[in-house]
Amino acid sequence: TWSAVPAGPPDPILGISEAFKADKDPRRINLGVGAYRDENGKPYVLNAVKKAEEKITAAKLDKEYLPITGLAGFTNNAAKLAYGANSVPRNQNAIAVTQSISGTGALRIGGAFLARHYPHSKTIYVPSPTWGNHIPLFKDSGLEVKFYRYFDKKTVGLDFEGLKEDLKNAPEGAIVLLHACAHNPTGVDPTQSQWKDISDIVAEKKLFPFFDMAYQGFASGSTDYDAFAVRYFVSQGHQIALSQSFAKNMGLYGERVGAFSLTTADEEERKRVDSQLKIIVRPMYSNPPLHGAHIANTILSDPELYKEWEGEVKGMADRIINMRERLYQLLSKEFQTPGEWSHVKSQIGMFSFTGLNTEQCKALAEKAHIYMTMDGRISMAGLNGSNIEYFAQSVDAAVRG
Ligand code: PMP
Repeated sequence: TWSAVPAGPPDPILGISEAFKADKDPRRINLGVGAYRDENGKPYVLNAVKKAEEKITAAKLDKEYLPITGLAGFTNNAAKLAYGANSVPRNQNAIAVTQSISGTGALRIGGAFLARHYPHSKTIYVPSPTWGNHIPLFKDSGLEVKFYRYFDKKTVGLDFEGLKEDLKNAPEGAIVLLHACAHNPTGVDPTQSQWKDISDIVAEKKLFPFFDMAYQGFASGSTDYDAFAVRYFVSQGHQIALSQSFAKNMGLYGERVGAFSLTTADEEERKRVDSQLKIIVRPMYSNPPLHGAHIANTILSDPELYKEWEGEVKGMADRIINMRERLYQLLSKEFQTPGEWSHVKSQIGMFSFTGLNTEQCKALAEKAHIYMTMDGRISMAGLNGSNIEYFAQSVDAAVRG
């Protein structure tokens, strides 16, 4: 029956973890997958999460199904976290929100909703480059995917002129995907003033903004600061779509906790949109998982746990920022590695786009047991006090050839 099914390629990111696992060298480093590691290189379960789980166990909750759109307390708190406590559409009961299978599931529900109900376009513009999964994900949702310029290889920074030109040339009404903070894979974000210009172009061209917020709090250490773009767009009267993930900022990767929301004109419109979100979700997976939503909701609704969580998010963000500073010092000062390395310091969030080429990345894997994606992206969280010197030394060797 399946004799004509061709073998597909391995996933470019998850494939790296396989290669890493097979390498038994003690110096091996995995900088492929974007998952936080502590100073000892170990996965990190937040104390706020452990305490929330203790509370949940003590409450002896049942395991009944959730409603189609998930745990109401959780979705309400998730919207509050993203849009802010004083958000106008939130106070008007005009945000349609559903729990989702983490950020990926939120994007997929959003893609399906737009493909079915957005009246002006079936084309979504995503940045070039973008998180690799955006492309098949939106295609499979029924949208056509096009690109806008984002990254300038020469400056290893934002190609803001290219971005503005491409958005201005997009057809009126097109959908545009924006990384709310900590752009993956480049680690390059627009400044607040650049966000304001982007908001103006989006208004002028009547584009529909779809924000992917997978790293709220993880970029700067402050959940409010990282929500700037989302809240600014809403304050300017844009109706937006928003995907949220709690994988990174609560370390809930495998629990698959997320939310998808749309701001609407008023409560009556919100109710109609809500009903259609249910119609999309029900035949896909019926209703979302329970445990992770309870964890996130417990943290978001308990003032003490919330405070502890905020401290831990900042702790993770700060450790990454320290690693950036250290890597910059090692490459530019200690080893005087050829090239300009200040982008390592200025980039934001989990990843750094190092500027290393495919050949250099291959050499790092083969000669130094260091694994990263072939576009030169490294997960900064994979670096720590014990391996960063070996890493910098190996990069130095790869660059010098
Ligand atoms: N969007 C972006 C930009 C991401 O980097 C990720 C995670 N790598 C996601 C969405 C989705 O992740 P998850 O489904 O684990 O929440």
